[in-house]
Amino acid sequence: MIHIVKQNEPKELIALRASGAVEYKDLKDNAKKVVKESLLEEQGYLCAYCMRQIDYLGSIEHHHPQSIYDGTNGNEDLRLSYQNFLGVCVGYYNLTPNIHHPDHLKAHCENVRGNKPLKINPQDKDTIAALKYTNNGKIFSEDAEINTDVTETLSLNLEILRQKRLNVWDGVQKGLSIKGKTHQNVRQQFDKYSNRKDGKRFAYCGIVLYFLQKAML
Ligand SMILES: [Zn+2]
Repeated sequence: MIHIVKQNEPKELIALRASGAVEYKDLKDNAKKVVKESLLEEQGYLCAYCMRQIDYLGSIEHHHPQSIYDGTNGNEDLRLSYQNFLGVCVGYYNLTPNIHHPDHLKAHCENVRGNKPLKINPQDKDTIAALKYTNNGKIFSEDAEINTDVTETLSLNLEILRQKRLNVWDGVQKGLSIKGKTHQNVRQQFDKYSNRKDGKRFAYCGIVLYFLQKAML
């Protein structure tokens, strides 16, 4: 997971609320398409939770569940709040050519989360900074609540996600061992994975940035 900086909300969403719409189901047609495109762009085409690449956004995730934050029981109404919207993946890997893979169609991200509240928030730098990775690609946190969020509620240590994160980090490590692990080379890789290429961020860049940042200390 990486820090997401929200851009201005699309004018189509502002207009929708101004027309009196309050429910998420009122977001449809062109306004929904524009909102999805906006989320993909601001997130660099990565799932807000697992960092896998997403070129098309199936559904919009409410970080604070809309079943709770609907304006009742003293809760804010965040059903049509752009600040509460995240772009997330479909929540499983359809490993069709490899149906014997143990993670074939196993759920992760919002597919397993449902409406459970999360302390981890991609828009909150402090909770993102509380994330750590092990040398074998597992994500965890010393904050017990955040650890439960990433390991159980979002199931981000599913074997296939762990492998994919580790592959990316292994690739960077191999490159550095060939070029030389100088401060300059580490910095160059850090900058590369902090940035975008053609508007897209690098899939699973969070693990790379975590380890490179430690290497630069
Ligand atoms: Zn995901």
